[in-house]
Amino acid sequence: MQPANRATVITPSQTLAIDAKAKQLKAAGEDVIGLAAGEPDFDTPEHIKAAAMGALEAGFTKYTPSSGIPELRQAIAEKLKADNDLDYEPSQIIVNCGAKHSCFNAMLAVLNEGDEVIIPAPYWLSYPEMVRMAGGEPYIVETTPETGYKLTPEQLRENISPGTKMLILNSPSNPTGSVYTETELVELAEIALEEQIYILSDEIYEKLVYGDAEHTSIAAFTDTTLANTIVVNGFSKSYAMTGWRLGYLAAPKEIAKAVDSIQSHSTSNPTSFAQKGALAALKGPQECVEEMRQKFDERRRRMFELLKNMPSVGVVEPLGAFYMLADISAFGLDSSTFCSQLLEKEKVALVPGVAFGNDRTVRMSFATDLENIEKALGRFARFCQSLR
Ligand SMILES: *Cc1c(COP(=O)(O)O)cnc(C)c1O
Repeated sequence: MQPANRATVITPSQTLAIDAKAKQLKAAGEDVIGLAAGEPDFDTPEHIKAAAMGALEAGFTKYTPSSGIPELRQAIAEKLKADNDLDYEPSQIIVNCGAKHSCFNAMLAVLNEGDEVIIPAPYWLSYPEMVRMAGGEPYIVETTPETGYKLTPEQLRENISPGTKMLILNSPSNPTGSVYTETELVELAEIALEEQIYILSDEIYEKLVYGDAEHTSIAAFTDTTLANTIVVNGFSKSYAMTGWRLGYLAAPKEIAKAVDSIQSHSTSNPTSFAQKGALAALKGPQECVEEMRQKFDERRRRMFELLKNMPSVGVVEPLGAFYMLADISAFGLDSSTFCSQLLEKEKVALVPGVAFGNDRTVRMSFATDLENIEKALGRFARFCQSLR
C-alpha cells in the first residue's frame, strides 16, 4: 500500500527516536541517564487526580460537547483574563486533546494550500511538520545565541513575503528556554499587524519562568492584536499532566467556530473525566505550580553553572521552560553524531539540535533530579574533553 503524499513529507519525531534508543539500553541493564525528556518528572497533583476519579465514579463517561464542557471553557476564559489580561468569551475557547492538537487544529483552520508560515529556529520540532500536514509551507528563520535565540523585529520584517500568512511564536521556548520581553513582543506584534499576518502564540510554558523574566501574552496589547492572534496553552507543563492529553486555544470567533467544526468531525471532545481534572487544576490551589517551578529553577541554576564553565561549550542562560541548548559546534561533529557517540560512550541521552533546526547544538532537559543532572554533566564534560 502507498502512503499519501502528505504522510511522506513529514519525518518521525527525533526526540522519540533517541528516547527509544536510551530506553533500549536501559532495558539491557545499562546505566543510562536521560536528559532527553520533554515532560515534567513530577506526578500530577493529588487534588487534580481526585477530581478525575470522582468524575469517573459519578459516571461522567459520555461524550461532552466537542469544544469541551462549558464550565471548563468558562474557567479558561477567567484564567486568560486573570493571568494574561485577555478578553475572551467562553465561546472563543476550544478545549483540545493537548496543546499539540490545539496548534494543529489552529493551522487546519487558517492555512490555505501554499500559505507560508514563519517559524523562528531553533523551533519546537512539530511546528514545521504540522504546517506541512495542513498544506502550508514552513519558512524557517534562524536566530542566534547573540539575540538569546530570539527573532528580532528586523528579521521578521525582512522575511515577510506576499505569501506569508502566519508567524509562530513560542515564549517561553522549547528548546531554547528564551522568554521574549514585553518590549520585544510589542515590536513583533506591530509588524504583524502592519503586514497583516496572523500570530500563533504557543504559551504552554507560561508558568515556568525564572529570575526576572515574566511571561506576557503577545495577544494582550491591543484589540487588533487580540483579533490577529490565536493563543495556545494547556495543562501538560504547568500541572504535570502530559498523559491526560488536554490543551486549549483561544481565537477570534470565526476561527474558534472553524476549529470546533474540524474537531467535531475528527477527534470529537477531549476525554470527559480528564476535563474535570483540568477544571480542578484551574480552580484549585495553585501552590503546586509554584513548588514545581522552584524545583525546576534550582535544577536550572545548577545545570547552567556546570555548563557555562565547560571549555568550548556555548550556552545561553534559559529564563523559561525546562531545557538548555548547549552549542557543541566547536567539537566539529554534527549534533546527531555527537548525541549518538555520547549515548554510546557515556550513556547520556540528549536530543540533537538538528531536530529543532539547529545542527550546532544539543538540547538537555532539566526535568530530572539534581543528582542525575550532576552525574550526567560530569559524563558530558568527560566526553567533551575526549573530543578536544
Ligand atoms: C509540550 C509542548 C506542547 C504540547 O503539549 P501537550 O502535551 O500537547 O499539551 C506544545 N508546545 C510546546 C512548545 C511544547 O513543548
